[in-house]
Amino acid sequence: LAAWQGRPVGVIGLARSGIAVVRALVEAGAQPVAFDDRPSALATAVGLGARQGALADISSLSLLVASPGIPFTHPAPHPVFEAARAAGVEIVGDVELFCRTHETGPIIGVTGTNGKSTTSALIHHLLEEAGLPSLLGGNIGKAVFELSPAPGQPFVLELSSFQLDLISRFRPKVAVWLNLTPDHLDRHGSIEGYLAAKKRIFMNQGEGDIAVVAVDDAISAKLANDRAQSSPRLMRVRVGEPAGDEIFVQAGQINDPTIGYEPVADLAGIPSLRGTHNWQNAAAAYAALRGLGLPPERFVQGFASFKGLPHRMEEVRRFRNLCLVNDSKATNPDSATRSLAAFENIFWIAGGKAKPGGFASLDPYLANVRHGYFIGDAAAEMIAAFQGKIPTTSAGTLERALAAAFDDARSSGLEATILLAPACASFDQFTSYEARGERFRELALDLGTRAEVRE
Ligand code: ADP
Repeated sequence: LAAWQGRPVGVIGLARSGIAVVRALVEAGAQPVAFDDRPSALATAVGLGARQGALADISSLSLLVASPGIPFTHPAPHPVFEAARAAGVEIVGDVELFCRTHETGPIIGVTGTNGKSTTSALIHHLLEEAGLPSLLGGNIGKAVFELSPAPGQPFVLELSSFQLDLISRFRPKVAVWLNLTPDHLDRHGSIEGYLAAKKRIFMNQGEGDIAVVAVDDAISAKLANDRAQSSPRLMRVRVGEPAGDEIFVQAGQINDPTIGYEPVADLAGIPSLRGTHNWQNAAAAYAALRGLGLPPERFVQGFASFKGLPHRMEEVRRFRNLCLVNDSKATNPDSATRSLAAFENIFWIAGGKAKPGGFASLDPYLANVRHGYFIGDAAAEMIAAFQGKIPTTSAGTLERALAAAFDDARSSGLEATILLAPACASFDQFTSYEARGERFRELALDLGTRAEVRE
C-alpha cells in the first residue's frame, strides 16, 4: 500500500472488510476517508484514524475502495458511487486493491451461485494436505486485508458476484466457475446482469492461466463452449456421464481422462462430501489443483480428511442408529432439496422466514422424508404445501421440533437422519443462519447425551 502514502483514499461500507481496509491504509500512511450510512460504523473508522467523508470530498480522492455490500448498479448506485464516477475517481473492491499491492503466489478464485465456500475451503485444505500452506479469504473467513501473505503462497479467494463487480485488473491463475442459477437478482436486476458480473472472473486471464468450469447446468455449459477458444486453458468438470474430455464424477469416483481410465479419487463414504452437489465441488477443486500443476497423488488423500464447513450438512451427533445433521445454511428450497436428496428416512425440521416462490420444488424429494416438523413464520404455509404428502407437525420452535423428531426417529427403529434443512431464512426466530445452526447443534448434543445417560 506504500503507493498510497499521504494520499486520500475513500472507503465506503465499514463492516469487517472495510474496517480492515481502513486499518491497512492508516498503517501505510495513507489518509482514509470514511463513508457509511451508519454513524456507529463511521465512529469506529474515525477512531482508527480515518476522516469522515462528505460528498464534496469525493472529487479529491485518489481512489475509492468499496465494500461488496453497497449497491453498485441495482436498483440504483449509492450516491457516493455516482459522485465518484462523475469525478472520474477509480472504484475498486478490497480484493482488487489487495492483489495489486501484495505479492502472493498463484491466485485461485472461486465463484458460482452455490458451493463457493465449500469449494474454496476444500481447495485450501487440499493444498495444505499437499504440503503447500495457502491463504483463504474473500467472502469466507477473514477479510483479505486481515491476511498476511508470504511471497509465493497460494491464495484461495471466494468471490461473490458483488466482489467481481469491483475488480478491474484482478487476474487469477486459476478461475473456478461452479454453477449459475437465478439468485441475487434483486441486486443485479436480471440474470444477464448477474451472469455478466460473475463472468468478470475470467476477464483478465490470458496465456498460462486456467479456467475450470463445471458444466452441469445449461448456462455454465454454454459459457464453457463460448470460452473454449479463448486463451486461458479450459478444464471442464461434470457430474455424471462425460461428454468429452472432461474430468467427471460417477458413483462418487473422480475420473481424469488426461491421466487414464482408473478413477483418481473416491468420494463415497466421505461425510463432508455427501451429495452430487459436493461431487461438483470436489471435481472443481481437483481440477483447480491439477491446473496449478500438482499431480493427483500429491493431494487426493486430502478429500477424506476434509471436515466440511459448519451448518452445511454438518453431522453434529450420532446416537445409535440416528444421525443428527445441521444444514442451517439451506436457507432456500433449492439448497434444501440437496439435503433431502442426500439422506434417507429423514425426520425433517424446516421453516423460518419463507422466501418468495413457494415450496413446490421440494415435492420430488419428499419420498425420503418420514415426517416433517415445521417452525417459525412459514410453518402454516409449509404444512399446507406438504399435507397429505408426508406426516406433518406444527412444532413452533426449534426446541420442540427437535425433541419431537428425536422421539419419533428413535421409536421408528429406522436407520434415520434427523435433519435441520429449513428451506427458509432464519430472521424470524434467529439473528442468522449460523445462530440457528449453533442452537441446533447445542440441542442435538444435549439430547444425545441425555438419551445416553438414560440408557
Ligand atoms: P456458497 O458459499 O456459494 O453460498 P456453500 O458452500 O456455503 O455455498 O453451500 C451453501 C449451500 O448450497 C449448501 O448447504 C448446499 O445445500 C448447497 N450447495 C453446496 N454446493 C453446491 C453446488 N455445487 N451446487 C448446488 N448447491 C450446492
